[in-house]
Amino acid sequence: MTSFSELGLSPKVLSAVADAGYTDPTPIQAGAIPVALERRDVCGIAQTGTGKTASFVLPMLTLLERGRARARMPRTLILEPTRELAAQVAENFDKYGKNHKLNVALLIGGVSFDEQDRKLERGADVLICTPGRLLDHAERGKLLMTGVEILVIDEADRMLDMGFIPDIERIAKMIPFTRQTLFFSATMPPEIQGLADRFLQNPTRIEVAPPSSTAATVEQKVVASGVKDFEKRSTLRSLIDTQEELKNAIIFCNRKKSVADLLRSLQRHGYSAGALHGDMDQHSRTAILQNFRDGKLPLLVASDVAARGLDIPDVSHVFNFDVPIHAEDYVHRIGRTGRAGRKGSAFTIVTRKDVKPLDAIEKLIDRKIDWLDGDLSTLGAEEDEAPKPRTRRGKNADKPAKAPVNDEAKASKAEPAAKKADAEEKVVTRQKSSETRNSKARAANDDRNRSRRRDRDDEPTPVGFGDDIPAFMLIGSKA
Ligand code: AMP
Repeated sequence: MTSFSELGLSPKVLSAVADAGYTDPTPIQAGAIPVALERRDVCGIAQTGTGKTASFVLPMLTLLERGRARARMPRTLILEPTRELAAQVAENFDKYGKNHKLNVALLIGGVSFDEQDRKLERGADVLICTPGRLLDHAERGKLLMTGVEILVIDEADRMLDMGFIPDIERIAKMIPFTRQTLFFSATMPPEIQGLADRFLQNPTRIEVAPPSSTAATVEQKVVASGVKDFEKRSTLRSLIDTQEELKNAIIFCNRKKSVADLLRSLQRHGYSAGALHGDMDQHSRTAILQNFRDGKLPLLVASDVAARGLDIPDVSHVFNFDVPIHAEDYVHRIGRTGRAGRKGSAFTIVTRKDVKPLDAIEKLIDRKIDWLDGDLSTLGAEEDEAPKPRTRRGKNADKPAKAPVNDEAKASKAEPAAKKADAEEKVVTRQKSSETRNSKARAANDDRNRSRRRDRDDEPTPVGFGDDIPAFMLIGSKA
């Protein structure tokens, strides 16, 4: 096996790596670092959790030891799809760059421009940005990209999902053609391959795990549940309560609204939980994440966008409250646990409505996922498929005709389903006013109020380029 000292990194970097306690490079590091140090382009196919961040941060630090930053002319640029990922990359520069005196500027939405302007004015060696905020700075004339020597495009497949590709195209045009580009993506669908072909020059392709694979150390199970939200919430609580090894968990929902609903429900039932979604201000996100990392908050309810790539080394469980709409998201969610060879567990709540997306997931990961306690056929008949009889209107209208198996199993422990449904309804109602407040706060935030799509996770992720098909893809279709 290659050791860090054989990769060509500078002594300062090697010393910081040793201080971080790493003995051997991970496969993506062993593959990408020597190529990056030769100033060649890299196309890295690797998921988070594989040591991908250090695979570009370490060679960048070494290369940046020569030369100095000039005002408003950053030397290197890293594009990340979310603020959290950008902040994590900045933390990596602090950790591995502790022997360097580099100016690292984090340009993300949700924080004021002034501080960011000051950092740019001082001259940044490294700019770490979400695409929207970078373009805002560029449009305000605060940034000259002609000095950028290295461009890193991280999590390219997520950028595509979030509709950021047109922004990235614009940014890439501002950077000299002679730059070095390091491009990373967890999966390589044809659209991403097309982008890589366009952005990279004669790249070295480094693939560390087959795309769409899940770690062998993660125990995966699907759990049958009734389709109603209160039934799913009850199934989730049963799951949480019966997991003896549960230390902490991330619970994924498909929509921001479900994140908020589920959080309130869990808190109401006495669980210590926090939430992470795209509408939270940066300060609250950072505080919640820190509490989760420190173990003060064992449960984190999150949407895909907010949780993408979070570096939380020790998550024991992942619960999918909703089956992800895009099968690749399953791989990303599951990737939050079982990191660095540790054991992890992942449970996905599946209703009759989720048969198709579950099939897509099983196709993608090329295996069947076992059911925890019997498949969907073991549930009672679902009355929601048929129109409701009039007599069931009123406060117990949501009560299932027959309690699902999971609820029955829990019946002795839990309150009656109707009462629970009732309580949940109240929670949702109370939340409405705070959502109105939130939406007003959002409208006031000029960074969010732009037509460009950024840092959003309230809608299903657009497929492909969404409405923003880049010009180069339209060329052939005009005839
Ligand atoms: P990443 O894939 O960049 O999100 O990194 C995942 C985790 O692996 C982070 O907690 C890193 O600190 C850690 N890590 C990175 N490189 C190494 C290494 N060579 N040995 C052990 N852990 C590492």
